[in-house]
Amino acid sequence: MKSRPEKYHPDSATVDALCRLVCAYLDLKVPMPDELIFMLPDDGEGNLEKRAEDGGMPSDPSRFVIPTCFSPLYSAETPTASMRKLGPVAWHAVEQGLAEVEVPAPIDPVKLRRLHAPEYVDAFLSGKGPLASSQGWPWTPQIRDGVLAINGGQLLGAKLALEHGIAANVAQGFHHAGRAQGGGYCTFNGLALVAQEFPDHRVMVLDCDEHGGNGTEEFTERLPNLYNFSINGTRFGMRGGDRSICRTVRRVTDDFGRYRQALDDAFDMVETWRPDLVLYQAGADPHINDPLGSLGMTTEQMLERDRIVFEFCQRKGLPILFVLAGGYQEPIRSRLLPLHLNTFRAAYAAYRG
Ligand SMILES: [Zn+2]
Repeated sequence: MKSRPEKYHPDSATVDALCRLVCAYLDLKVPMPDELIFMLPDDGEGNLEKRAEDGGMPSDPSRFVIPTCFSPLYSAETPTASMRKLGPVAWHAVEQGLAEVEVPAPIDPVKLRRLHAPEYVDAFLSGKGPLASSQGWPWTPQIRDGVLAINGGQLLGAKLALEHGIAANVAQGFHHAGRAQGGGYCTFNGLALVAQEFPDHRVMVLDCDEHGGNGTEEFTERLPNLYNFSINGTRFGMRGGDRSICRTVRRVTDDFGRYRQALDDAFDMVETWRPDLVLYQAGADPHINDPLGSLGMTTEQMLERDRIVFEFCQRKGLPILFVLAGGYQEPIRSRLLPLHLNTFRAAYAAYRG
């Protein structure tokens, strides 16, 4: 793994990554979220846009960063923070020197029609009928384009994780989406999608969202290379299955030991089933202040959860792709962003070497 200086200072590689992120926004002609506009860093050598036009600056190959999929298309306006939060998280992960962004191409709908019922996919693409809003939001072209880009990012992220050992997709995972419809703000199941598109790999989902991954569970019955291990506070319709474990844990604020035990059980299953790739749903909705949470995790407990997971995979040499999953606190900047950035920090600390 690549090394980096002891103390972080924004350097040419970070500035270069930020330049490319700005360019991506400009190329796609989508507005940058307000949170980003006044956070543009001043490097003292002219504005980023101009430098991006000049081709940016060469990256420093000796510096470790987390390969991270993100497109400005991800940041659609949604009634919940689900997609609105994605732009600020990507931006600040790059700005803090933790991540370098790769912009994925939107997914080919042919792949979605193999995974989901074709009539559901077509309803969502066209915006027609109740199926188009079955994840829980009024349909908009912006949400459609964001969902297609995010699922493209799942496949690029899986490829990057297999190449580099770790990667991120600044997205949700969409674990409630079933074959014939969406649900729980999830449109197409980006976890099952990876298993479908990497049929020679055993893919294990470690789902640490507040809510059980009922959609992913459904797909384990169709995809023999997919295993789902969900540690949740709310079952969300999960029943458990041959390759789907549902571990529902009571509120942990005063006793993280119960959660730790569930993680150890998941790791035992990793040792038994021996996946080639772990997809980690690092949900922020188990947090004690989340309006949809019941697990009552403190910020420190969530950081501990992430640390344990990343250190396990790093120690085992097991490729891991992580996604943000749920998290519904607002305002995003002060209450949600720090939790998701902590996941990047935990990953960074485990993998920087
Ligand atoms: Zn959730």
